[in-house]
Amino acid sequence: MKETILPPATIGILGSGQLGRMLAIEARKMGYGVQVLSPDRNSPTGQIADKEWVAAYDDLERVRQFAQAVDVITHEFENVPAATVDAAADFVPVRPSRHVLHVAQNRAREKSFFAAEGLPVAPFRAVETVEALRVALAEIGTPAILKTAAFGYDGKGQTRIDDASDVEDAWQTLGDQPCVLEAFVPFERELSVVAARGMDGRFVHYGAIENDHQNHILDFSIAPARVPEAVATQAVALAREVLEGLAVVGVLCVEYFLQGDGILLVNEIAPRPHNSGHLTFDAAITSQFEQQLRAVCGLPLGDTTLPRPAAMANLLGDLWQQGEPAWARALAVPGVKLHLYGKADARVGRKMGHLTATAPTVEEAVARVQEARSRLQRSDVAE
Ligand code: AMP
Repeated sequence: MKETILPPATIGILGSGQLGRMLAIEARKMGYGVQVLSPDRNSPTGQIADKEWVAAYDDLERVRQFAQAVDVITHEFENVPAATVDAAADFVPVRPSRHVLHVAQNRAREKSFFAAEGLPVAPFRAVETVEALRVALAEIGTPAILKTAAFGYDGKGQTRIDDASDVEDAWQTLGDQPCVLEAFVPFERELSVVAARGMDGRFVHYGAIENDHQNHILDFSIAPARVPEAVATQAVALAREVLEGLAVVGVLCVEYFLQGDGILLVNEIAPRPHNSGHLTFDAAITSQFEQQLRAVCGLPLGDTTLPRPAAMANLLGDLWQQGEPAWARALAVPGVKLHLYGKADARVGRKMGHLTATAPTVEEAVARVQEARSRLQRSDVAE
């Protein structure tokens, strides 16, 4: 197998959303070819790629053909089935590996990995039946959060339990399937660390990023996070343990809860670029997407410095409900960059794009991105 994959080789991407799109943009900048496979046509990634393969992930014959057309495969979401990865890995390297995906695909495995590595986590129990849930709730106490073990993202597949009498309802709401019950964490802040590990084992990171969620969906990210230096250093040290513990080759994001006592708890991992790292696209010397490309191609990892503080605001489909947002007004704010993902259907809650602002201070970056996003509302437009 070739160690270093150089342009004009072709990168294969499993999954075709905005993360793949931004990876594809970076790959094309560096002269790589890009092919993408997913069930969707005219996808955010497909619009940038040289070739869009429209196939179900379990169409292993198509997956094998796809793998033979590319030089390395990476993925932009973690729920690619193991059989798909195995079929592809017969022909080309798949990075991060099947093992990393396997752990990240299932909250019970993920949390058990954290616990086995000695990483700090909220008390949790894996539960497979409603009876087991009852026992677990008695041990963990209320309030608690019940999450499906598989296929959860952006708060989908989770529900809060405030009282033992909620157990039956909560279990049915999540569809009578294996779950993880975890203690509710009254956190002060949410943080993430986006990091990368190369084929040579080198570890790089973008420092601690501060995240603000609305309705369980990321709303704002701010870098560097407004936390004491010791907290940021600890977050990076924990991220390093995760990437090294999983022997990751690629980009991985670790999400944390910061408690009032300054203690960090690991919440979850995403073995790919992460929404909180989108600000690196405009603000870092090497974006998280170029870093993914470099890592999976066996190239030296790039400089992760952010020359200026940055803030990012997500643009959800909600913004389109009164018509096309007022882009020109937002772009008049200094230091603001617009990213749209090429999605035709602006549904409520759907991630359609984001704005990034850089500025001399964190406060100014936050103020700029907030001002820019508020200007998008049609009702604000002075006619
Ligand atoms: P997750 O899908 O696990 O990242 O959860 C999405 C969001 O729900 C998190 O970013 C938190 O804002 C919230 N959340 C998840 N788990 C907990 C918890 N155990 N305690 C408090 N809030 C939580």
